[in-house]
Amino acid sequence: MSARIEHDVVIAGGGLAGASLAVGLARQGFDVAVIEAVDREADHQPSYDDRTLVINRASLNILGALEIIDDDLARCPIRTIEITRAGGFGRVRLEAERHGVDRFGEVVVARELGNRLLAAMKACAEITEYCPERLETFAADDDGVDVRLASGTQLRGRLLVAADGTRSSIRQAAGMASDLHDYRQSAMIFNVRPRSAAEATAHERFTPAGPLAFLPQPEGRLGVVWIDANERIDEAMGWSDDELIARLVERAGSAFQGFERPGKRARYPLVLLRTPTPIGARTVAIGNAANTVHPVSAQGFNLGLRDVAGLLDALADARDPGAPAWLARYVKLRADDQAETVRYTDTLARTFTNPSLPFRLGAGLGLAAHGVLPGLQRRLVRAAMGFREPVPTLARERA
Ligand SMILES: Cc1cc2nc3c(=O)[nH]c(=O)nc-3n(C[C@H](O)[C@H](O)[C@H](O)COP(=O)(O)OP(=O)(O)OC[C@H]3O[C@@H](n4cnc5c(N)ncnc54)[C@H](O)[C@@H]3O)c2cc1C
Repeated sequence: MSARIEHDVVIAGGGLAGASLAVGLARQGFDVAVIEAVDREADHQPSYDDRTLVINRASLNILGALEIIDDDLARCPIRTIEITRAGGFGRVRLEAERHGVDRFGEVVVARELGNRLLAAMKACAEITEYCPERLETFAADDDGVDVRLASGTQLRGRLLVAADGTRSSIRQAAGMASDLHDYRQSAMIFNVRPRSAAEATAHERFTPAGPLAFLPQPEGRLGVVWIDANERIDEAMGWSDDELIARLVERAGSAFQGFERPGKRARYPLVLLRTPTPIGARTVAIGNAANTVHPVSAQGFNLGLRDVAGLLDALADARDPGAPAWLARYVKLRADDQAETVRYTDTLARTFTNPSLPFRLGAGLGLAAHGVLPGLQRRLVRAAMGFREPVPTLARERA
């Protein structure tokens, strides 16, 4: 039998959440193994693709504190958020300056952030990456977890972190109870050049078929996230560029005067995953492996990154990072934010696409109320910036 290689923490999944956690744990002095199934050079790396990510203020603080991003990373600030509703009343315009900050967040391309994460991992002597490699089985005992990889390599850690995405096999094998809901919708993403667009402005437009977001990108382009029923996205993936532009103009309302040069399209089916207690014996699930949310209002990776910062807080004084007391502490620190973020995005996803008239009327009134009531606006802004209590240490604003 081959010898087991020992680490403090074994992370399965080197996507955006797993890689960020690895860097954070290494900076706290832990010896970390990262197991990633997809070759880093592969075009189909699922986490580091062409999607545009809104990174909110709390997340920028975390990524800055971990020295994963710096001023050289190409990104666009979001200083204004415009929320509108097709065919109905209700409009909200949020301006960062009026809320005492210079930006709500920034937009980055996932691939470029991924490259930064890979470089940060490589620079940490405490991190060993096993890639391409799959976690196949694991078994926890009182002192640690034995992990077996597809190649036959055996690892032993004090803690196993499931950062292996929505279909996490670890979450299931560890017996963490969860609910999965299929929205029967997909997101189609692409970028496009607008004929005119307000600078540093993100647009979220609710239409009866699903939300449509426009996110500012470098060189004056816009990242488009177009959400609709699965069968309509199937059809839209096959449209010619001219047809795509014509349909986009129809859907976008009056904020733009036309578009040109659409880029490559990609499609993502949308599900909701909720894991109320994302821990098991010497295991914890973070990011999409614990909670996967609808992309409306761009919360997914931001939530996962707060899981990372929360776990770093929970393990700050831990000599044995898999001991039950630390994992219970993690659940306590993260429970409210996870529950609220899931509820918030799910409510948005369902409300504005509900065909019932009273429901949509209520949604319109809700949006109109956000437009005029400062208390409601403040709540929307705090959620948009990622500051839900208790705010993890790394996410806090620094003077
Ligand atoms: C269209 C769209 C737009 C989005 N926009 C935003 C946004 O603007 N802002 C935002 O915050 N979020 C956004 N999100 C959400 C965000 O993309 C996800 O939350 C994030 O990518 C999840 O990262 P993760 O690391 O948790 O999971 P994943 O990206 O799923 O990574 C899991 C990793 O685990 C690996 N893996 C799986 N099984 C194994 C195994 N057995 N062994 C080893 N490795 C394994 C996989 O190869 C993968 O690399 C968006 C999502 C979509 C679909």
